[in-house]
Amino acid sequence: MADVAARPARPLPHLAEPDTAPFWRATREGRLTYQVCRRCGAVVFYPRAHCTGCGGPELEWRTSAGEGTIYTFTVIRQHGHPFFAGRVPYALALVDLDEGFRMLTEIVGADPEQVRVGQRVELAWEDAGEVRIPVFRPRAGD
Ligand SMILES: [Zn+2]
Repeated sequence: MADVAARPARPLPHLAEPDTAPFWRATREGRLTYQVCRRCGAVVFYPRAHCTGCGGPELEWRTSAGEGTIYTFTVIRQHGHPFFAGRVPYALALVDLDEGFRMLTEIVGADPEQVRVGQRVELAWEDAGEVRIPVFRPRAGD
């Protein structure tokens, strides 16, 4: 038998969930998606069935260019889940995407002590079996 049980698995989304399933399917193609309301123009994230601005159901999917700015962050130094306990310390951030939505994500490819509010970041991906997890790294040259 393979020794994969030695490595704790990342908790993953429920792919049958109808509001977020299209989002996770798009990650397989390396696309970070968000929604825009056709009625009022509100930018909606995380994915939902109805607009957070007007309550209407006419939400259109769009693909983000994957560039944004760190709004705030914290450094995780301990975690109760074995998968994340193996990653500490890491920076968990709220990133403002240039398209106008904010998402909770991990900052990779940087010393967590060097992460800063206002820092420009770009999308990266982590493979996680059926889906890919959107994470961000400092933008090259910034
Ligand atoms: Zn709306």
